[in-house]
Amino acid sequence: MAWPVGAYNARMAGSAAHDIEPSAIRRRLRAWYRRHARDLPWRRRRDAYAIWLSEIMLQQTQVATVIPYFATFLQEFPEVADLARAERSTVLRLWAGLGYYRRAHQLHAAAQHVVREYGGEFPKTVEGLLTLPGVGRYTAGAIASIAFDCRAPILDGNVKRVLARLTASPASPDDPREIRRLWSLAEALLPRRGSGDFNQALMDLGATVCTPRDPDCARCPLARDCAAHLSGRTAEIPRPKARARVQPLKLTCFVVTAGDRVLLTERAAGGLWAGTQALPAGESVNGNGLRSVARELLPVAVLRRIRSWQPAGEVRHRLTHRDVTVEVHAAAIARVRVPAPYRWSGDGDHRVLPTVFRKVLRLEHFREFSGETSPK
Ligand code: SF4
Repeated sequence: MAWPVGAYNARMAGSAAHDIEPSAIRRRLRAWYRRHARDLPWRRRRDAYAIWLSEIMLQQTQVATVIPYFATFLQEFPEVADLARAERSTVLRLWAGLGYYRRAHQLHAAAQHVVREYGGEFPKTVEGLLTLPGVGRYTAGAIASIAFDCRAPILDGNVKRVLARLTASPASPDDPREIRRLWSLAEALLPRRGSGDFNQALMDLGATVCTPRDPDCARCPLARDCAAHLSGRTAEIPRPKARARVQPLKLTCFVVTAGDRVLLTERAAGGLWAGTQALPAGESVNGNGLRSVARELLPVAVLRRIRSWQPAGEVRHRLTHRDVTVEVHAAAIARVRVPAPYRWSGDGDHRVLPTVFRKVLRLEHFREFSGETSPK
């Protein structure tokens, strides 16, 4: 059976009509996947907990970065109930460095939801999975198809690219109508059984062969099905996304030391680095002097002991939509009791701060401060 979406889009794009055959695509992709599937740790145990954990970590994060975090979480929390029982601060500490800290909050909340509402077993349907905090249609489809062999489609960046090229779609990948069309196509292509492997094969093809730049069409099992390849337009499909503007953000950060300890606090639940242990840092508001920013960010007991601030340098840090500049000021005092959420750092705490604060502590000014602070 020829599927009409391919013909429709190829004609729209001005090339010769081109039909795609779902059964041929399934056959070729499965054969390719048997030989070329990536050996990823979460594929060694196909249970919902491991798949969910990996999918949340992989959101906007590269596979190589995720692998050690995945191993640590499974070691610390072998089952979802272990994660649900953990202190939020422990989860955030283990997540440190992976970025997008909102995911860690949602991960913990979802584990508690699974235990509370589903007796510690992940729901087996897309609808049930969608009730978990932080789980959207893509993640639900991945868990349902891989762990429970549901006939559920997925559509991540890799799959979008493959399907857009397969059908030579001229549409923007951000266009809601195009997104709906690609979801329909992803669903229409699914086999009756083995959707998990089919979905993973599409992901792997997008990650390793049908790459954003210079897709390796000579090695692609779908080359004879692919309208973009057959019409020589792989370079222009999918249409490049409109780039989101990167906004500058200026922060003032205070590093207060007492001997070999540094003053830490907990970031607010919303916003950047939400809920993490961090150095006191806040937005520099125009016209506000250093003292007034310090008054907002530090406890009175500490402020009373600070005679003057020493400028310690500047750190630049790039987030997806923010270009962050951190102006750093330092002061050394005798250790005093501080109210929660402030506390003095303990051994190893510096290593689990979000990357931007680890960069701050690597400034020359803090060289002797601890082993962690020497510049790398
Ligand atoms: S033939 Fe080329 S463009 Fe088409 S799916 Fe394969 S790698 Fe991607």
